[in-house]
Parts: sequence; structure tokens; C-alpha cells
Amino acid sequence: MPVTAAADDVRVHAYRADADALRRQDPEIADVLAGEVRRQADSLQLIAAENFTSPAVLAALGSPLANKYAEGYPGARHHGGCELVDAAERIAVERATALFGAAHANVQPHSGSSAVLAAYAAMLRPGDTVLAMGLPHGGHLTHGSPANFSGRWFDFVAYGVDAESGLIDYDQVRALAHRHRPKAIVCGSIAYPRHIDYAEFREIADETGACLIADAAHPIGLVAGGAAPSPVPYADVVCATTHKVLRGPRGGMILCGEELAGRIDRAVFPFTQGGAQMHTIAAKAVAFGEAATTEFAAYTHQVVVNARTLAAALADEGFAITTGGTDTHLITADPGPLGVEGRTARGLLAAAGIVLDTCALPYGDGRGIRFGTAAVTTQGMGPAEMARIAALFAAALREDAAATRTVRARVRELTERFPPYRG
Ligand SMILES: *Cc1c(COP(=O)(O)O)cnc(C)c1O
Repeated sequence: MPVTAAADDVRVHAYRADADALRRQDPEIADVLAGEVRRQADSLQLIAAENFTSPAVLAALGSPLANKYAEGYPGARHHGGCELVDAAERIAVERATALFGAAHANVQPHSGSSAVLAAYAAMLRPGDTVLAMGLPHGGHLTHGSPANFSGRWFDFVAYGVDAESGLIDYDQVRALAHRHRPKAIVCGSIAYPRHIDYAEFREIADETGACLIADAAHPIGLVAGGAAPSPVPYADVVCATTHKVLRGPRGGMILCGEELAGRIDRAVFPFTQGGAQMHTIAAKAVAFGEAATTEFAAYTHQVVVNARTLAAALADEGFAITTGGTDTHLITADPGPLGVEGRTARGLLAAAGIVLDTCALPYGDGRGIRFGTAAVTTQGMGPAEMARIAALFAAALREDAAATRTVRARVRELTERFPPYRG
């Protein structure tokens, strides 16, 4: 991993000092922090959207840059005293454009959802038709949920995955695009384990006069390391998060061509956001710097090898793996063949120290489970550990208290050998 032992030690000392000060002033919150650090370290973090940032990213996040107000963009702020945070944002933008080969990057979105909101604000008018993956098939809330601004303000048409293969039905996407003539097509998902064919989406968008918005919140980290195809050459706008496989701070980002740069920037500030979070932007710069290293590229390839190994081992245990496997860090599965519904499975696994999510099963009964290998790979685990984890999954689902205790102990052995942070 890109962080050296020396950098680790420095950060561990700084972290202790801060933690001591917090404990003296506010033991209640200090207890929460300490407990959460322990929870993250002694259970298996398999939530597909989570990862462990480096001590350097945490240092930038926990810095006095959090104190600075900076509305606007570098060189054009509404506040004084922005010279140094301007430098941080310029570095973040330069590193993001270089890393992803994009003409323009906006690194201010507070989250992935904020990035999507700004992309819609730049490209759409309320009431416009948008074609996106349906939520039961893996679309995000921002892809037309009635509980979200997207479903309220736009007219969403949903495409889905094929009932047999679990793969995106590109014929259906094309037919719906020709029938509904959407203003925008969104490609991207919270649960799709395979590569997305961005060239095919581009063709469909061109045939129907739609703009193409890639919501690459999940795979963008793999893209950075060369382990997944990039949407940048194909999509008009690419929305992303910085905290999933990319391993940066919690936040969002938008990539686009030069011709849309002004529109995207105005859609982020002042249209949908206020002051930029400069501590987070500095931490994004640190993460982009780490993501440009050969160590990070190797990490992303290992993430995929681990996910494939875990998926195959779980298939051997009897889980029904959606699409039969994965191209990415992400796996969705139906534990139904083992006699357990997804929500029950999540609870049994949590009791054994294995933390993951449930997910919709577009054609199945009940819910499935959704998980990924980004965090455990950061911890240094490899295929041997993935095979062990698959066996622990199966044992934890036996609904027997003794088995749960045994799995919990095995999880502790594993996490003690692969701590997320040293010290
Ligand atoms: C994670 C994700 C988001 C939202 O990111 P937040 O930072 O939680 O707002 C949006 N779209 C997709 C496809 C995602 O996977």
C-alpha cells in the first residue's frame, strides 16, 4: 500500500495526541470514536462502498483547513485569505484531470449524490425525461427514486437487467431511448458487478440525441488503477465519489470536457452548494496522489482478484451469485439456496462480525446481499483469506449460536493478522 511505515508512525502519534485532548474535554464522544475505531478493526468491513483511507488522508481531513470558508473557485473566491486553500484545490484538480485523462474536474461536490444533483442541474430542466437503471435493478436513489429530488423533479424511465443473465439489457436501453427520447441517459449503479459498456451507451445516446451521464461512484477507484474501463472518453459528464474503492475522503467529484466546464462549475457553486470543504478537498488531493502510484494500481487489480475469488468460493458454498461472478470489487448474491433471506443473512453475518448490506433482487424473492473487497484488500488480505471468508459466511448462516461464536473468533483472528491501521 502507498503509505510507508514511517508515515504511519508519525500519524499514529499525531492521532494519539488529538485523541487525548478529545478524551479530556469530551469523554462521551471520545468513547464513541474509540469504540468505532475498535469496531472497524475487529470486524470484517465488506460494505462494497467502504474502504480505509490512509493516515495521510485522515491527517488532511482532521486539519485546521476545516476552519476556512471558501465560496467560489481558486482565484475567484467570495472570501479573503484563500491563497493557501486555493493551492490545495488547484493541486486536487490537476491531479484528478491527470489521473482520469479528463479536460476538467470539479472537486467540490460534498458527496456522490451532490455530484449527481449538480450534473442534472447543469444538463436538465425540471420535468425533463431521464433514462436510468431502475432502483430494484441497482439504480441509486438519485436515479429517480420518488423519495429523492430526482424522482420528484424529473420524469424517469427505468431500464433493467436481463432476468436470466443479470446483465444490463442494452437492447432494452436502446428501445426505451428511441421510444422516450430522454434528455439524458444515466449509466451507473450501486449493485452492478460487471463492467459497463460505455461505448454502447454513447452510441445509444448519440442515436437519440441524449446526453450521457456516467455515475461511476463505485468503479471510479478501479478506473484510477486501470482495473476497469473508463467512462471519461464516452460520457459527457462523469459523476463519482472519492471514498469508495478510490480510498479518499467522503466526498464527490465531477469530470467533463472543456465545453461543459463552466456549466458544471456553476451548477456546483452557486447553484447547488455553498462554501467548499477545503479540508476534504486537500484530502481528495492526497488521495488522488496516492491513486496515481503503481502500488495503488496493483491494489485495484488485487481488489478484483479477491472479489472473483470470494464470488467463486461462495458459489461453491451454494450462494447464487448474480451474473455468476464479478468484474469489479462488488458482488451481489442470493443466500436463498442456503435457506436464508437476505435481511436474515445480514443479521446473522453481523452477529459473527461480518458487516455487509442487503440489496434488491430484481427477479427473486426477498432481498439479496451486497458486499465488496475494497476494504479487506487495503488491509492486505488476498485470495487465501477470501476462501476463508467464504467458509465463514456459510458457517455464520447456520443459525446456531455456537457456530456464530466460532465464526466471530475466526474473524478476530483474521482482523488481528490484517489490522487496517497499525498502532
Ligand atoms: C455511492 C453512490 C452514490 C452516492 O454517493 P453518496 O456520497 O452516498 O451521496 C451515487 N450514485 C451511485 C451509483 C453510488 O454508488
